[in-house]
Amino acid sequence: MKTKTLKKDKINIITLGCSKNMVDSEVLSGQLRANNRRVVHESLKRDHNIVVVNTCGFIDKAKQESINTILEQVALKKEGLLDKVYVTGCLSARYRDDLEKEIPEVDAWFGTMEMPLLLKKLNADYKKELVGERLLSTPSHYAYLKISEGCNRTCAFCAIPLMRGGHVSKPMEEIIAEAKKLAGMGVKEIMLIAQELTYYGLDIYKKRRLPDLLRQLSDIKGLEWIRLHYAYPSRFPLEILDVMHEKNNICNYLDMPLQHASDNMLKAMRRQITKTEIIELLQKIREKVPGICIRTTLIAGFPGETEDDVEELTQFLKEQRFDRVGVFTYSHEEDTGAYALKDNISSEEKERRAQEIMEVQQSISYEKNMEKIGTTFKVLVDKKEAGRYIGRTEFDSVEVDNEVLITSDETLSIGEFVNIRITKAYDYDLEGEVV
Ligand code: SF4
Repeated sequence: MKTKTLKKDKINIITLGCSKNMVDSEVLSGQLRANNRRVVHESLKRDHNIVVVNTCGFIDKAKQESINTILEQVALKKEGLLDKVYVTGCLSARYRDDLEKEIPEVDAWFGTMEMPLLLKKLNADYKKELVGERLLSTPSHYAYLKISEGCNRTCAFCAIPLMRGGHVSKPMEEIIAEAKKLAGMGVKEIMLIAQELTYYGLDIYKKRRLPDLLRQLSDIKGLEWIRLHYAYPSRFPLEILDVMHEKNNICNYLDMPLQHASDNMLKAMRRQITKTEIIELLQKIREKVPGICIRTTLIAGFPGETEDDVEELTQFLKEQRFDRVGVFTYSHEEDTGAYALKDNISSEEKERRAQEIMEVQQSISYEKNMEKIGTTFKVLVDKKEAGRYIGRTEFDSVEVDNEVLITSDETLSIGEFVNIRITKAYDYDLEGEVV
């Protein structure tokens, strides 16, 4: 049944989950645009008649959000406000057979590697020559750059390899070409992302080539900040730090999920590293790049986690004093290594432990922010909200880290760098004035 308005097809892409999914949606938008298809991203207007939901299937909360979003779009279709609803991404890759039966109103389901098939459904052809062409959904001064797909690691809690497959590095020349295009579009900051960043090159070049890639990226004119996300601690290629130390436009910033710190949990999680090795690695990182900002991610409530394990983890946080910490509560995911274990910790207790961990981090974050008062930082202005400019230092990635609330009498441009002297500090934010 044609929607009441009979307008030319217009496709709205809705993206859920992580930055890697976001890049997939941007690539899909770029392909559709190149096929003269009308496409928007996350549009709230009701001027489209086709929706593509790019889902996340990582953990319970994310899966529920994806299903709710699909059901919302299906409801709009039932009301005649949409002609077609297509679903792609991780949830679809993982549960397609069940979902097809449970939500028959969806017109078609696609996996994470089936963009050409999805494009066909949208009357578009996959254009290989467009590698690196994307319609950015981020503000024009920063962008994510995905350097590989999938993962060869076997972390017991993780379903990502089930949805994204094994590790596949992008050829270096393609990444460099994409980065040059982004710089040409005015992008000043790129966030390098992957499921496992440090594994880059081991498949197609038979050796770790992230340091080489960083050197080439740092030579691209216009890229002022290059940021590393999702580094894996085990067999961490220390040469990365030499490049980081050497090159001014590689942020002294490292996002390295550790997930836990007790050997009991690291072993059960199959993280291929011990607490002692983690501590030695952190020491080397801080020696090689003094003042580096380290972000990590932790899991609370993994099967078998004892009070002693939690105590050991909070003690570890007090000793290591990370700059940024994120905590997930364990999600019991079928077909993962940990699924055979008894999910013996209640969700209330998982939440309590996550809270306890974040309370420890909150005071560390506040103390570290207080130390920044009086210091001047180069800040990238991201947006203006409630009459106030908001930006970030090189030690803050988008959406997950601190922000700098800027007091300025003069007009600032979004996407420009300004020097800010910090005047106030909060748990997770800073305040400052233009100097
Ligand atoms: S490194 Fe571990 S947690 Fe990360 S995507 Fe791979 S298996 Fe999952």
